Amino acid sequence: MERIKPQPGIMDIELYQGGTSHLAGIKDVVKLSSNENPLGPSEKAIEAYSKAAFELNRYPSSDHNSLRAAIGKVHQLDSDRVICGSGSDEIISLLCQAYAGPETEVIHTVHGFSMYRINALIAGAVPVEVVENNRVTDVDAILAAVTERTCLVFFANPNNPTGTMIPTSEVERLINSLPRHTLLVLDGAYAEYVENYDGGASLVEANNNVVMTRTFSKLYGLGGLRVGWGYGPVHVIDTLNRVRGPFNVTQPGLAAAKAAVFDRAYTTHCRVENARCRSWMADKLAEIGVLSDASLANFILARFRDRHEAEACDFYLQSQGIIVRRVSGYNLPAALRITVGDESACRRVVHAIRQFKNGKRV
Ligand SMILES: *Cc1c(COP(=O)(O)O)cnc(C)c1O
Repeated sequence: MERIKPQPGIMDIELYQGGTSHLAGIKDVVKLSSNENPLGPSEKAIEAYSKAAFELNRYPSSDHNSLRAAIGKVHQLDSDRVICGSGSDEIISLLCQAYAGPETEVIHTVHGFSMYRINALIAGAVPVEVVENNRVTDVDAILAAVTERTCLVFFANPNNPTGTMIPTSEVERLINSLPRHTLLVLDGAYAEYVENYDGGASLVEANNNVVMTRTFSKLYGLGGLRVGWGYGPVHVIDTLNRVRGPFNVTQPGLAAAKAAVFDRAYTTHCRVENARCRSWMADKLAEIGVLSDASLANFILARFRDRHEAEACDFYLQSQGIIVRRVSGYNLPAALRITVGDESACRRVVHAIRQFKNGKRV
């Protein structure tokens, strides 16, 4: 009898594990597991979103003109080369749909974002995992893995869940040695947290095979709305526009994102506040022996002695109403990723980890 079977590769995909948000029986839970902005979205974004409620009968714009123009203006980019998506996850998916397929390879790093591998498998391609250098993207390791089948290379800069970043000179070195049939995707989900960093936009402009992805989910605090964007060469944007659905971003999403990108004072406030709380948290944890690499994003990767200690600490934090992220699925079993919360959340998590280090257990 015929059997209904998905395409090869699909059943190799493990379900994406999102950050938990509830703990049974605990009321005052602080969620530090999904790299969300603890300060919430800009009030201007909320206002634009509320206004859009009165036009829910209308289909959204399909060319995203107004949001693309706003992004172009604020980031000083050519808005014709901007594409908007349902989160930057969709841009990653469109890239794999358009460029990856059977007989091709997609490179990602050992502690890279899980959606690269998942979307490569959906497209029928072979995901190729390369090592990092002590939790930092290793350009030489990427280059060593490139073959004539490599269609895409993905890495995030700064990277999630490591928080580390490589300098533009290193990215340039990678680009200069990549073959012309390979498209480099610079995932800039955390670019806004780095002062005076363009997320790789200038590298997109200087090359024919570099794309940048960005999101409104992290610094802009709009993860619930699902809005992201990409910036690339004309030929790539034209290709992706053929693949994407015409109404892939909702009208409230477009309106709120536009208001958010123009609210630059709030953007700066969130970046400064994140940096302040992040360094306080990292310093306090280091004092009690919980080290982390210098993070440029809105989380830190706290390292423990081994897997057992990391797990025990996670259980203890849960008992205290604190949710952080286990990252064994990212090949980091002895670490916990902790999102930078507001000041009181940072104090709470540091206090709990100190108690744990002093021998407290569930
Ligand atoms: C959060 C995240 C994204 C995706 O965010 P969207 O909500 O889909 O825009 C992409 N890449 C990395 C590395 C992330 O951490």
